[in-house]
Amino acid sequence: MNQCHSLEYGATVWQAMKWAESVLESSGRPDCHVDAKLLMLYVLDCSDTMLLLNRQKVMAPDQFEAYTKYIAVRQTGVPLQHITGVQEFMGLEFKVNEHVLIPRQDTETLIEQLLGKLKDNGALKGIDIGTGSGCIGISLATYIPELEMTLVDISKDALAVASYNIKMHQLEARVKTLESNLLAQYDGEKVDFIVSNPPYIAQKDMEELMIEVKEYEPHLALTDYGDGLYFYREISKLAKDYLKENGLIAYEIGYDQGEAVQDILKAEGYCDIELHKDLAGQDRVVIARRG
Ligand code: GLN
Repeated sequence: MNQCHSLEYGATVWQAMKWAESVLESSGRPDCHVDAKLLMLYVLDCSDTMLLLNRQKVMAPDQFEAYTKYIAVRQTGVPLQHITGVQEFMGLEFKVNEHVLIPRQDTETLIEQLLGKLKDNGALKGIDIGTGSGCIGISLATYIPELEMTLVDISKDALAVASYNIKMHQLEARVKTLESNLLAQYDGEKVDFIVSNPPYIAQKDMEELMIEVKEYEPHLALTDYGDGLYFYREISKLAKDYLKENGLIAYEIGYDQGEAVQDILKAEGYCDIELHKDLAGQDRVVIARRG
Protein backbone atom coordinates (compact mmCIF):
# COMPACT_ATOMS: atom_id res chain seq x y z
CA MET A 1 0.00 0.00 0.00
CA ASN A 2 1.30 3.43 -0.89
CA GLN A 3 0.98 5.23 2.41
CA CYS A 4 1.45 8.68 0.98
CA HIS A 5 -1.28 8.84 -1.62
CA SER A 6 -4.06 6.37 -1.35
CA LEU A 7 -5.53 4.01 1.14
CA GLU A 8 -7.19 0.86 -0.09
CA TYR A 9 -10.20 -1.05 1.12
CA GLY A 10 -9.08 -3.76 3.46
CA ALA A 11 -6.84 -1.41 5.43
CA THR A 12 -6.72 -1.95 9.15
CA VAL A 13 -7.51 0.78 11.64
CA TRP A 14 -3.82 1.12 12.38
CA GLN A 15 -2.84 1.33 8.69
CA ALA A 16 -5.50 3.94 8.09
CA MET A 17 -4.23 6.10 10.94
CA LYS A 18 -0.63 5.86 9.74
CA TRP A 19 -1.76 6.81 6.22
CA ALA A 20 -3.80 9.73 7.58
CA GLU A 21 -0.89 10.99 9.63
CA SER A 22 1.36 11.04 6.59
CA VAL A 23 -1.11 12.77 4.26
CA LEU A 24 -1.92 15.40 6.89
CA GLU A 25 1.75 15.96 7.47
CA SER A 26 2.48 16.33 3.78
CA SER A 27 -0.25 18.99 3.60
CA GLY A 28 1.53 20.90 6.36
CA ARG A 29 -1.18 20.45 8.98
CA PRO A 30 -0.11 20.68 12.64
CA ASP A 31 -0.88 17.94 15.20
CA CYS A 32 -1.18 15.24 12.50
CA HIS A 33 -0.77 12.33 14.87
CA VAL A 34 -3.43 13.57 17.29
CA ASP A 35 -5.88 14.51 14.55
CA ALA A 36 -5.51 11.16 12.75
CA LYS A 37 -6.36 9.46 16.01
CA LEU A 38 -9.19 11.80 17.05
CA LEU A 39 -10.90 11.48 13.67
CA MET A 40 -10.62 7.69 13.95
CA LEU A 41 -12.19 7.80 17.41
CA TYR A 42 -14.94 9.96 15.94
CA VAL A 43 -15.61 7.58 13.03
CA LEU A 44 -15.49 4.42 15.14
CA ASP A 45 -17.36 6.18 17.95
CA CYS A 46 -15.26 4.41 20.54
CA SER A 47 -12.94 5.00 23.49
CA ASP A 48 -9.13 5.17 23.44
CA THR A 49 -8.97 1.68 24.92
CA MET A 50 -11.29 0.20 22.31
CA LEU A 51 -9.23 1.83 19.59
CA LEU A 52 -6.11 0.21 20.95
CA LEU A 53 -7.79 -3.19 21.13
CA ASN A 54 -9.20 -2.91 17.60
CA ARG A 55 -6.22 -1.45 15.81
CA GLN A 56 -5.51 -4.59 13.76
CA LYS A 57 -9.14 -4.91 12.62
CA VAL A 58 -10.02 -4.23 9.00
CA MET A 59 -12.15 -1.11 8.70
CA ALA A 60 -15.76 -1.54 7.63
CA PRO A 61 -16.45 0.06 4.20
CA ASP A 62 -18.69 2.83 5.57
CA GLN A 63 -16.15 3.72 8.24
CA PHE A 64 -13.38 3.62 5.67
CA GLU A 65 -15.33 6.01 3.42
CA ALA A 66 -16.09 8.37 6.28
CA TYR A 67 -12.53 8.41 7.56
CA THR A 68 -10.89 9.09 4.20
CA LYS A 69 -13.44 11.83 3.52
CA TYR A 70 -12.77 13.55 6.87
CA ILE A 71 -9.02 13.32 6.38
CA ALA A 72 -9.39 14.98 2.96
CA VAL A 73 -11.43 17.78 4.54
CA ARG A 74 -8.93 18.19 7.38
CA GLN A 75 -6.10 18.34 4.78
CA THR A 76 -7.53 21.59 3.42
CA GLY A 77 -7.21 23.27 6.85
CA VAL A 78 -10.78 22.90 8.15
CA PRO A 79 -10.33 22.63 11.93
CA LEU A 80 -10.78 19.18 13.42
CA GLN A 81 -13.51 20.57 15.69
CA HIS A 82 -15.57 21.76 12.70
CA ILE A 83 -15.63 18.14 11.53
CA THR A 84 -16.45 16.57 14.88
CA GLY A 85 -18.60 19.53 16.00
CA VAL A 86 -17.26 19.46 19.54
CA GLN A 87 -14.39 20.60 21.73
CA GLU A 88 -13.57 19.59 25.27
CA PHE A 89 -12.94 22.41 27.75
CA MET A 90 -12.51 22.15 31.53
CA GLY A 91 -13.46 18.47 31.28
CA LEU A 92 -16.79 19.35 29.63
CA GLU A 93 -17.97 18.94 26.06
CA PHE A 94 -19.01 21.97 24.03
CA LYS A 95 -20.72 22.13 20.68
CA VAL A 96 -18.84 24.40 18.27
CA ASN A 97 -19.30 25.61 14.71
CA GLU A 98 -18.00 28.32 12.39
CA HIS A 99 -19.85 31.03 14.34
CA VAL A 100 -17.82 30.68 17.54
CA LEU A 101 -14.22 30.52 18.60
CA ILE A 102 -13.11 26.97 19.38
CA PRO A 103 -12.45 26.86 23.16
CA ARG A 104 -8.69 26.97 23.85
CA GLN A 105 -6.77 25.23 26.56
CA ASP A 106 -5.12 28.59 27.38
CA THR A 107 -8.51 29.86 28.49
CA GLU A 108 -8.67 27.20 31.21
CA THR A 109 -6.16 29.37 33.12
CA LEU A 110 -8.79 32.10 33.31
CA ILE A 111 -11.38 29.65 34.68
CA GLU A 112 -9.00 28.16 37.23
CA GLN A 113 -7.98 31.59 38.54
CA LEU A 114 -11.61 32.66 38.87
CA LEU A 115 -12.67 29.40 40.51
CA GLY A 116 -9.96 29.93 43.10
CA LYS A 117 -11.33 33.38 43.93
CA LEU A 118 -15.06 32.72 43.68
CA LYS A 119 -15.80 29.29 45.05
CA ASP A 120 -17.17 28.94 48.58
CA ASN A 121 -18.75 32.38 48.32
CA GLY A 122 -22.35 31.18 48.20
CA ALA A 123 -24.75 32.65 45.66
CA LEU A 124 -22.95 34.79 43.10
CA LYS A 125 -23.84 36.58 39.89
CA GLY A 126 -21.56 37.01 36.92
CA ILE A 127 -21.49 38.21 33.32
CA ASP A 128 -19.43 36.67 30.49
CA ILE A 129 -18.94 39.27 27.74
CA GLY A 130 -18.38 37.89 24.23
CA THR A 131 -19.35 34.40 25.31
CA GLY A 132 -19.09 32.63 21.93
CA SER A 133 -19.69 28.93 22.62
CA GLY A 134 -20.42 29.82 26.23
CA CYS A 135 -17.45 27.78 27.43
CA ILE A 136 -16.36 30.31 30.07
CA GLY A 137 -19.72 31.04 31.69
CA ILE A 138 -20.95 27.45 31.44
CA SER A 139 -17.87 25.90 33.00
CA LEU A 140 -17.92 28.46 35.84
CA ALA A 141 -21.60 27.68 36.48
CA THR A 142 -20.87 23.96 36.37
CA TYR A 143 -18.16 24.18 39.01
CA ILE A 144 -19.81 26.84 41.22
CA PRO A 145 -23.19 25.37 42.18
CA GLU A 146 -25.05 28.54 43.15
CA LEU A 147 -23.64 30.83 40.48
CA GLU A 148 -26.02 32.66 38.12
CA MET A 149 -24.50 33.74 34.81
CA THR A 150 -25.52 36.03 31.97
CA LEU A 151 -23.76 35.14 28.73
CA VAL A 152 -23.56 38.14 26.43
CA ASP A 153 -22.68 38.19 22.75
CA ILE A 154 -23.35 40.56 19.85
CA SER A 155 -23.76 37.58 17.49
CA LYS A 156 -27.13 35.78 17.29
CA ASP A 157 -25.40 32.83 15.66
CA ALA A 158 -22.95 32.54 18.53
CA LEU A 159 -25.75 32.77 21.09
CA ALA A 160 -27.54 29.89 19.36
CA VAL A 161 -24.47 27.75 20.07
CA ALA A 162 -24.21 29.04 23.65
CA SER A 163 -27.91 28.25 24.23
CA TYR A 164 -27.42 24.73 22.92
CA ASN A 165 -24.50 24.26 25.31
CA ILE A 166 -26.48 25.64 28.27
CA LYS A 167 -29.20 23.04 27.60
CA MET A 168 -26.70 20.26 27.04
CA HIS A 169 -25.27 20.97 30.49
CA GLN A 170 -28.76 21.41 31.99
CA LEU A 171 -28.03 24.88 33.28
CA GLU A 172 -31.11 26.71 31.94
CA ALA A 173 -32.17 27.65 35.46
CA ARG A 174 -28.97 29.53 36.26
CA VAL A 175 -27.43 30.52 32.94
CA LYS A 176 -29.11 32.96 30.51
CA THR A 177 -28.04 34.47 27.21
CA LEU A 178 -28.33 38.12 26.19
CA GLU A 179 -27.88 39.54 22.69
CA SER A 180 -26.06 42.79 23.26
CA ASN A 181 -23.16 44.93 22.17
CA LEU A 182 -21.10 44.67 25.37
CA LEU A 183 -23.44 45.66 28.20
CA ALA A 184 -25.78 47.98 26.27
CA GLN A 185 -28.83 45.70 26.75
CA TYR A 186 -28.02 44.50 30.28
CA ASP A 187 -30.55 45.77 32.79
CA GLY A 188 -30.12 43.19 35.54
CA GLU A 189 -28.67 43.57 39.02
CA LYS A 190 -25.06 44.49 39.70
CA VAL A 191 -22.81 41.47 39.64
CA ASP A 192 -19.95 39.97 41.63
CA PHE A 193 -17.73 39.58 38.59
CA ILE A 194 -17.42 40.22 34.88
CA VAL A 195 -15.28 37.91 32.78
CA SER A 196 -14.25 38.26 29.17
CA ASN A 197 -12.02 36.67 26.58
CA PRO A 198 -12.52 39.45 24.03
CA PRO A 199 -11.21 39.60 20.46
CA TYR A 200 -7.67 40.73 21.25
CA ILE A 201 -5.59 40.03 18.17
CA ALA A 202 -4.36 43.24 16.57
CA GLN A 203 -5.34 43.73 12.93
CA LYS A 204 -1.67 43.77 11.95
CA ASP A 205 -1.13 40.27 13.41
CA MET A 206 -4.10 38.61 11.67
CA GLU A 207 -2.09 37.61 8.61
CA GLU A 208 0.24 35.48 10.72
CA LEU A 209 -2.48 33.17 12.05
CA MET A 210 -2.66 29.52 10.97
CA ILE A 211 -5.09 28.68 8.15
CA GLU A 212 -7.27 26.83 10.68
CA VAL A 213 -7.84 30.07 12.55
CA LYS A 214 -7.60 32.72 9.82
CA GLU A 215 -9.85 30.99 7.31
CA TYR A 216 -12.29 29.16 9.54
CA GLU A 217 -12.80 30.96 12.85
CA PRO A 218 -14.98 34.10 13.02
CA HIS A 219 -12.90 37.26 12.70
CA LEU A 220 -15.43 39.02 14.89
CA ALA A 221 -14.23 36.78 17.75
CA LEU A 222 -10.53 37.18 16.96
CA THR A 223 -9.71 40.81 16.29
CA ASP A 224 -10.92 44.32 17.13
CA TYR A 225 -9.57 45.44 13.71
CA GLY A 226 -7.36 47.83 15.67
CA ASP A 227 -4.53 47.52 18.17
CA GLY A 228 -6.06 44.56 20.03
CA LEU A 229 -6.77 46.58 23.18
CA TYR A 230 -10.10 48.19 22.24
CA PHE A 231 -12.27 45.81 24.27
CA TYR A 232 -10.09 46.03 27.39
CA ARG A 233 -10.49 49.82 27.29
CA GLU A 234 -14.25 49.69 26.68
CA ILE A 235 -15.09 46.90 29.13
CA SER A 236 -12.87 48.29 31.91
CA LYS A 237 -14.63 51.65 31.59
CA LEU A 238 -18.15 50.16 31.45
CA ALA A 239 -17.76 47.39 34.01
CA LYS A 240 -17.48 49.77 36.96
CA ASP A 241 -21.18 50.62 36.61
CA TYR A 242 -22.21 46.95 36.65
CA LEU A 243 -19.90 45.54 39.32
CA LYS A 244 -20.74 45.46 43.01
CA GLU A 245 -18.21 47.08 45.29
CA ASN A 246 -15.17 44.80 45.42
CA GLY A 247 -16.48 42.98 42.32
CA LEU A 248 -13.92 41.35 40.06
CA ILE A 249 -13.03 41.92 36.46
CA ALA A 250 -11.19 39.01 34.81
CA TYR A 251 -9.70 38.97 31.32
CA GLU A 252 -7.89 36.59 29.07
CA ILE A 253 -5.14 38.56 27.32
CA GLY A 254 -2.61 38.04 24.54
CA TYR A 255 0.89 36.99 25.67
CA ASP A 256 2.24 40.51 25.04
CA GLN A 257 -0.65 42.54 26.47
CA GLY A 258 -0.03 42.11 30.21
CA GLU A 259 1.46 45.53 30.82
CA ALA A 260 -0.99 47.43 28.62
CA VAL A 261 -4.07 45.82 30.17
CA GLN A 262 -2.81 46.38 33.72
CA ASP A 263 -2.22 50.04 32.81
CA ILE A 264 -5.76 50.36 31.47
CA LEU A 265 -7.20 48.90 34.69
CA LYS A 266 -5.00 51.13 36.85
CA ALA A 267 -6.10 54.22 34.94
CA GLU A 268 -9.76 53.24 35.46
CA GLY A 269 -9.20 53.01 39.23
CA TYR A 270 -9.24 49.23 39.76
CA CYS A 271 -7.13 47.76 42.56
CA ASP A 272 -5.51 44.41 43.50
CA ILE A 273 -4.47 43.94 39.87
CA GLU A 274 -2.96 40.48 39.23
CA LEU A 275 -1.26 39.01 36.17
CA HIS A 276 -1.19 35.22 35.72
CA LYS A 277 0.62 32.96 33.29
CA ASP A 278 -0.77 29.98 31.37
CA LEU A 279 0.75 26.47 31.42
CA ALA A 280 3.13 27.47 28.62
CA GLY A 281 4.52 30.24 30.85
CA GLN A 282 2.98 33.09 28.84
CA ASP A 283 1.09 36.01 30.38
CA ARG A 284 -2.56 35.02 29.89
CA VAL A 285 -4.90 36.36 32.57
CA VAL A 286 -5.42 39.70 34.32
CA ILE A 287 -7.76 40.00 37.29
CA ALA A 288 -8.59 43.18 39.21
CA ARG A 289 -11.03 44.43 41.82
CA ARG A 290 -13.37 47.40 41.57
CA GLY A 291 -11.98 49.95 44.00
N1 GLN B 1 -15.58 33.43 25.35
C1 GLN B 1 -15.34 32.58 24.24
C2 GLN B 1 -14.10 31.73 24.45
O1 GLN B 1 -13.30 32.00 25.29
C3 GLN B 1 -15.22 33.39 22.96
C4 GLN B 1 -14.12 34.36 23.01
C5 GLN B 1 -14.09 35.21 21.75
O2 GLN B 1 -14.94 35.04 20.88
N2 GLN B 1 -13.14 36.10 21.68
O3 GLN B 1 -13.90 30.78 23.77
